[in-house]
Order: sequence, then structure tokens, then C-alpha cells
Amino acid sequence: MGTADLHVHTIYSYDATSTVRAVLKQAADTGLNVIAITDHDEIRGSLEAHELAPKYGIESIPAVEVSTKEGHLLALFVETVPPRGLTLIDTLIQIGKLGGIAIVPHPFNSLPGSLSMESVMGALANPRAKAVLKGIETHNMSTQAFDGIAQKLSIYLPLAKIASSDAHVYWAIGGGRTEFPGETAQDIRDALEQMTTVPIPYAGEFSTRTIFSWLHRMTLRKFGYASDNKSATQPIGTQKMSQSFIQRTKRKK
Ligand SMILES: [Zn+2]
Ligand SMILES: [Zn+2]
Repeated sequence: MGTADLHVHTIYSYDATSTVRAVLKQAADTGLNVIAITDHDEIRGSLEAHELAPKYGIESIPAVEVSTKEGHLLALFVETVPPRGLTLIDTLIQIGKLGGIAIVPHPFNSLPGSLSMESVMGALANPRAKAVLKGIETHNMSTQAFDGIAQKLSIYLPLAKIASSDAHVYWAIGGGRTEFPGETAQDIRDALEQMTTVPIPYAGEFSTRTIFSWLHRMTLRKFGYASDNKSATQPIGTQKMSQSFIQRTKRKK
């Protein structure tokens, strides 16, 4: 069996604090075979990771967390960003045209960005959208308080169940992980299609450590520093990011 964390953010997201290299190093150190970097409506970090990952002995799936009109959606195995602000069904159809598949993240709760049961059922009733929607997060380390409702409501859905970290700080990577038969990115794609994934939730309690770690690193990030090789002392410039990019990603909320 292999393990994957299919929902991870880097400094290419306005609200995350780790460089691509720090994410890859942590993913390898924590024993993952596959990761997907899923920045908000931005794929550059994920494409960089796809190129760099073999140096770290892992595979990285090119991916993005798309802001649909109805909530967030993870698009995996895509190399361009689907348009944001479309309905869930139209976004799924676009992802299909790009050769990708999709996973519903942090579902069925009151958080901004969470898709409703009505939206997901609507997509599953549309054959073109259903052909692309393959998985659902029953466990999300970063929104752990809502895992119970996600698990209850997704029991009867014809979707692979996964656990993710949704990490916005480097140490959370792999905190939620998904086991699958095989070891490669193609193997987990097959497992999602065949619904043979096994979610392995974060063993600990969501704690104030997460919030303080994130606040500390976000403060440094605003001054142009990011977590690289596990310390938050590397200038963001080393990641080829300009101050204007940082400003732009802030406005993307
Ligand atoms: Zn999200
Ligand atoms: Zn996310």
C-alpha cells in the first residue's frame, strides 16, 4: 500500500506559509509516496513540485483547489487552472476536458468554501460531471471539527473516501493521509476510480498549535519570509516570487 496527501498548500496560496521545496521535503520525510499541491486558483507551485518531486523520491500530482460558485473543489491531474466562479457541474466538465478528476474537500459544513450536499448530489445526477467527480474528504485535518458530519453524509455517496491535511504550515503535511493499493500517482488515480482508497485521519487533536504556528508564519510571510527547509527564515524571493505576486494573491480571497 502507498500513502498520499492530496490537499496541501504552499506560498502560492494567499493563506499558506511553506515553499514548494519545504513541502516536498516534509512529504518525503513523513513517508508519503504521493502528494498533490492544491493552491487556491493557482497552479504554478504545483507544476514546480511535479518537476522537482523525483529529486525527493516522491511523486507530485499537478493539481489546484478551484473556487467554484458553490464552494471549493480539488482538481487533480490538470496542468492549467479551470476558470473560477463557474457552477460545480460546469467546473467538473471543464476539469474533465483538461484530463483531470476531482475531489470534494471539507464538505457539508458552514465554513466558507464548503460544498453543500445539494450541490454534490446535483453533480452526481449529471453524467458528464459524475464521470469526473471521484472522491470526497471524509477527514480534513484543518477542519477536523466537521469530520463527523462529512463521514455520516458521505456513507452512501458513490465516491472514494480520502483523508487530507489541507496543510497551510509545513509540519501538518501528511497529518491526514490516504492509503491506496500501489505506490504511484497513477495507482492512486486508479484507486480513486475504483473506490479502494482508505482514509487515515490525523491521530491527534486539532490544537491551538496549528493556529499559533500559522499566525507566526503568516506574519513572517507578510514581511517576505516563508518556511523553507522547515525554518521560516528564507526570503520568499528564493521561490522566485515578487512582492507584487504576494499582493495579488492576498487580493484573491
Ligand atoms: Zn478549501
Ligand atoms: Zn485547501
